[in-house]
Amino acid sequence: MASPEARLEYYRNGFPWEEVVRDWVRPDIEVMFKWDDQTRRNQTFQSVDTFRAAVLVRNPQQIHVAGVYRGRNVMPDARPLVFDIDMDAYKDLRLCGCGVAPKACAECWELFGIGPMRIMDAMLRDLFGYQRVRFVFSGRRGFHVWVMDDSARSLSREAREALVASCWFSWAPDRGFCLDMVDRVARPMLAHQRQLAERLLARSRRTDDQDDASALCRLIWPKLDKDVTTGMNHALRCPYSLHGVTGAVVRPLAGPWENPFTGAPTT
Ligand SMILES: [Zn+2]
Repeated sequence: MASPEARLEYYRNGFPWEEVVRDWVRPDIEVMFKWDDQTRRNQTFQSVDTFRAAVLVRNPQQIHVAGVYRGRNVMPDARPLVFDIDMDAYKDLRLCGCGVAPKACAECWELFGIGPMRIMDAMLRDLFGYQRVRFVFSGRRGFHVWVMDDSARSLSREAREALVASCWFSWAPDRGFCLDMVDRVARPMLAHQRQLAERLLARSRRTDDQDDASALCRLIWPKLDKDVTTGMNHALRCPYSLHGVTGAVVRPLAGPWENPFTGAPTT
């Protein structure tokens, strides 16, 4: 975990205030700070200056954003549309042994980071028509998908539940899309990560799999943490904030192809 001094140094010299306030800490969103065993909720910030001043005073270990409040309601009026995928969902499939510990590694990311990110990207753009999709490393062993289109913020809980439900893997509702993902995601992965993919397939193939690429597609399909998308009051790690356990930066990725673990595994 980052020391208080290292945190303050990061906030003073490494934190992209303008970008964070433009994209994530917008004036109508609830912001939460966590430090030691304390939590401060129900804050909003109208400018870069007020946000920066509050963060520098409190030097929080974690910064979250939650619901969007446009009136004096108890429940939020809107909320960012975010999907969460944690490596733990692939625990039984991870090959390197890091699935037994609370960490992830570059090897796992090649299959269970890149694979689901590419499929989520295609699903959100091609099936649901969103245009501004961003991927953020969670700081530990997973990623968040932020849909930045304004229309996405206003979706009701029911609409979010329907969205999550239609993201589950199934050949039935949209066989064409699944076959497309076999060609666009699984086949290139089999070509570029052949050894990794073959090790995975060697222990996870099913008799009803058509071929290796279909089997791989089934195994790497996004496994979403539903509550993060549907809970209107669920706190979301603010991009560029620090992860409370690892101290790593919750870092936006350049795209659904970036591996944040190409380097040493994080613990
Ligand atoms: Zn691993």
